[in-house]
Amino acid sequence: MSTNTENILFSEPFRVPLATENLITVINSDHIHGDGPFTSSATHKLSKLTGSKNVLLTTSGTAALEMAVRLLHVGPGDEVIVPSFTFSSGAASIVAAGGMPVFVDIEGDTGNIDPALVKAAITPKTKAISVMHYGGVPVNMDAIMAISRDHNIPVIEDNAHGLAVETRFGTLGTIGSVAIQSFHDTKNIHCGEGGAILINDPALVEAAEIMREKGTNRSKFLRGQVDKYTWVEWGSSFLPSELNAAVLDAQLDEFENIQKKRFSIWNTYQSELVEWAAEHSATLMSPPEGVHAAHVFFVLMPDQYKRDALLAHLRSRGVIGTFHYVPLHSSPAGVKYGRVHGSMDKTDSFSGRLARLPLWPGMSDEQVKRVLDTMKSFQ
Ligand SMILES: *Cc1c(COP(=O)(O)O)cnc(C)c1O
Repeated sequence: MSTNTENILFSEPFRVPLATENLITVINSDHIHGDGPFTSSATHKLSKLTGSKNVLLTTSGTAALEMAVRLLHVGPGDEVIVPSFTFSSGAASIVAAGGMPVFVDIEGDTGNIDPALVKAAITPKTKAISVMHYGGVPVNMDAIMAISRDHNIPVIEDNAHGLAVETRFGTLGTIGSVAIQSFHDTKNIHCGEGGAILINDPALVEAAEIMREKGTNRSKFLRGQVDKYTWVEWGSSFLPSELNAAVLDAQLDEFENIQKKRFSIWNTYQSELVEWAAEHSATLMSPPEGVHAAHVFFVLMPDQYKRDALLAHLRSRGVIGTFHYVPLHSSPAGVKYGRVHGSMDKTDSFSGRLARLPLWPGMSDEQVKRVLDTMKSFQ
């Protein structure tokens, strides 16, 4: 069968031959648990890539979010302001610590949290502000950090999409007190499941090391700074094994390459669909700062009916496009555990009208062309 009749998947994990070699090295070594040579190497690469001095690998982006919330001392009775248009973990991590997510609306063009609404949602109970850079398009961090300073409330950056995106606010992930990255295999760089926490507030570094190591001072012990390790605080096992770190380390070497391929596809979609968008009253992405991570390519259709029709059309011709986040504020757990501040109109509209196209570095030119041809045959 020619590739023409095979489905074009929404996402396919990027494969690096060196990962296999690294895995064999680990499995034959005496250090398969966490914090070995590959963790050290991958951590240094991430540090260099982001400019963050304090990077810790975690088992997932979700685990990193759980750490972030706990590091900022969120507990029962506390509120954390968070977008409703985000991944479930953005809110579930707050609930896991006993806090309450307070959902606010987004900007209608980027899908990012609206800083003016964050300010309006602050109460004496607000313990943190959590923002998510959708698609690696930066949240207006000047506005967010000004609110943070005025009210003395720390910021968490969920940067699962925007690894190493440079902006006029600084590199994403280095602006808030803490930030998280995800290395799930749907992300730009992956190790199956994995993540990292970037600790930008130096006062939180030691607490983070302890929390990640089951609440013990093991990191200090391994550095020879204490003579035995002891349980000193709340913690859990947040560190990945060397097997995951070995894959991540190999992927990080390919980062530039991966981004180049993703941007090439993104730019082709963007330029080839200008007329199509005008014809269908659809809106293409227009990152306000001109920067993004080529993590997602989406179109906003005029209404949900048209969006669903477009996705059905693509699917019927073997092109697997998809919607994205289902708003958290109206989801069963969001209703049970969270609170809404103000209107959620933009969140509902954005979520209902958004269609993402396949975007992964292994896509061939023919596949990209087929996606575009299929878009153009939509009536
Ligand atoms: C993927 C993702 C996460 C969670 O990452 P995992 O590594 O899958 O736990 C969190 N937030 C956002 C915005 C994500 O896209």
